[in-house]
Amino acid sequence: MPYLIGQEELDAIRGVLESNTLERYVKSDESVVSRFEKNFCKKLGIKHTLAVSSGTGALICALKGLQIGIGDEVIIPSLTYVATALAVLDVGAIPVIAEIDESLTIDPIDLEKKITSKTRAIIPVHMYGLPCNMDAITNIAEKHDLRILEDVAQACGGSYKGKNLGTIGDAGIFSFNHYKILSVGEGGGVITNNDKIYQTAAIKHHGGIIYEEGLMNSFDIKPFAGSNFRLAEVLGAMLEVQLSRLDSFLSKLRAEKAQFLETILDFPEYFKKNHIHDKKGDCGTTFFLIFNTVSYAEAFIKEAEKLNVEVWSAYTKGHVYSNWEPIFKNQKVLISSDDGTYHWSKLKFDPSNECPKSMSILKRTVGISTKVTRSKSDFEQVINKYSYALNKITSLKYETI
Ligand SMILES: *Cc1c(COP(=O)(O)O)cnc(C)c1O
Repeated sequence: MPYLIGQEELDAIRGVLESNTLERYVKSDESVVSRFEKNFCKKLGIKHTLAVSSGTGALICALKGLQIGIGDEVIIPSLTYVATALAVLDVGAIPVIAEIDESLTIDPIDLEKKITSKTRAIIPVHMYGLPCNMDAITNIAEKHDLRILEDVAQACGGSYKGKNLGTIGDAGIFSFNHYKILSVGEGGGVITNNDKIYQTAAIKHHGGIIYEEGLMNSFDIKPFAGSNFRLAEVLGAMLEVQLSRLDSFLSKLRAEKAQFLETILDFPEYFKKNHIHDKKGDCGTTFFLIFNTVSYAEAFIKEAEKLNVEVWSAYTKGHVYSNWEPIFKNQKVLISSDDGTYHWSKLKFDPSNECPKSMSILKRTVGISTKVTRSKSDFEQVINKYSYALNKITSLKYETI
């Protein structure tokens, strides 16, 4: 949801409209998009930011920057927005799906099992603001010489052991669409400390880069056929304001989440909270309960709905890989052979057998979203209702507050 849009965004947009230049490369003075990029670099402590038109576009540009292409395998988690898989296909590579564990992020043990001689990269997704186990993932990547592209679309401002998410791997990507922490309708970003990754992503995002005076002067990368993922100035202006609100958004989300964690205690016969790899770094956008059985999860959703409080099953359409079947069942990919040739083949995709552990966890997991614009007293009421609903499904054995 757009968490909070105010007068500052309106003023910023008006400023761009009145300037009469709506695209960054047309401007003679500094564009708003490039100013946002500088601010984002400063905020996250990274050398390069490339603002683009969507998170999907950011993934495509970053994969290109990492030299991922035809025949390469890229490991992604079973729980992510479908765009993570689509971007891999878009650059001609093959998405390989690994299990998640009870942290709701990629399971490092299964991740390592999915590595083959063709694997080139891993995309850990910091899903629902939850940091992945980056120590384990980094170790595996080093051992097998793989690149890491962090998908931070849902975790802008999060961290892992003091490091900002997106700055731990070779590159990170963000989305600024309607549903994300920073929200401007559509938008995305690539971050990296690596000049070549940045330059390649920049060429990919602005196919006509060679025609603008001086734009590639400092580039080592030679021109190639790119595309268009440019971000409009109007959105850049809005994004700049949203970025200035990031700390206040996060502190509100984290305060609500902290209260959930403190108040709702595990009840091992019925449910427990998901494991969080770094509680301090968690963005706090969502509180999760993993129930012991599917019927407990369903009963909790029913009781909560009766009380008019929002809950949702983690087994949601766009985010669980088994629901991608209509897209992937007829998908063809180019497979490389040892003799250096390629052949078309059906994408290996078998949701009934691939990730049984993920399916079991997700069918038993219920999410509760935190909110930026909710008063303390409303929150107190709401948390009491969740507690009451848990009490009901445990046949009144759960201690309510
Ligand atoms: C939203 C999202 C994307 C894609 O972002 P768009 O801006 O919608 O293209 C990629 N990965 C994850 C995990 C997302 O949540």
